[in-house]
Amino acid sequence: MSAPGPLSLNTATVRDQWSLAQAIEGCARHGIPGISPWRDKVAELGLAQSARHIRDAGLFVSGLCRGGMFPAADAAGRRAAIDDNLRAIDEAHALQANCLVVLGGGLPPGSKDLPGARNMFHDGLAAVLPAARAAGVTIALEPLHPMTCADRSVLSTLGQALDLCDEFGDGVGIALDVYHVWWDPQLEAQVARAGKRISAFHVCDWLVPTTDLVFDRGMPGDGVIDIPGIRAMAEAAGYNGPCELELLSHRWWKEDPEQVLTRAKTAHATAC
Ligand code: ZN
Repeated sequence: MSAPGPLSLNTATVRDQWSLAQAIEGCARHGIPGISPWRDKVAELGLAQSARHIRDAGLFVSGLCRGGMFPAADAAGRRAAIDDNLRAIDEAHALQANCLVVLGGGLPPGSKDLPGARNMFHDGLAAVLPAARAAGVTIALEPLHPMTCADRSVLSTLGQALDLCDEFGDGVGIALDVYHVWWDPQLEAQVARAGKRISAFHVCDWLVPTTDLVFDRGMPGDGVIDIPGIRAMAEAAGYNGPCELELLSHRWWKEDPEQVLTRAKTAHATAC
């Protein structure tokens, strides 16, 4: 089997330990060639400074996290989400990110109208796509595990994300995160269907037992996901990009970040 694509560090992996500047320097020090910053960390450092620091360190940007989250209780909320996504598109452009990762967002507070929330996501995406295309920023739709449907993502499956890709066409791809899609009986067929539209490949592992459905992700190799198997599916579909470690974990957030990056490099080489 071929080696995985170059390692990229999603900064959520060291969210509690490091600023963006520290994460950039950590990647450079450890020979990790890519980074995927979160927008709050970019805002702390400043957009121009972030772009310059990443460029000076010689890192590529596998993605910017995150946009989307379009469903809202009222028109003003939906407008605010669209405006925020337009800013995210500008940031992704300035950072020369491979893509802007876009999440579904959950149900508006108090709502039980799931189809309505999905429609809001659809309409929000339609509203920002022209700006993304004009900026040359690829929107990477990231379906999240259905356990997060209520509060994080009404976009739950690859099939659902690819239906949107089919409808909207140019400029929309998917972020394939093994943590969110490994359970899907249609995984292989949907990854094949995605083809060249796979814009990002996120890795971590599903621990058994898991103690927190969002913030107890495992280092690749520590859980039950066949990450090399899913990578092989992505490569067969035409993906040959980075392998982005996105490890949201209360346990790993307590570790020395130098050790986290050392373990990440081993996991990338042996378990991805
Ligand atoms: Zn992800």
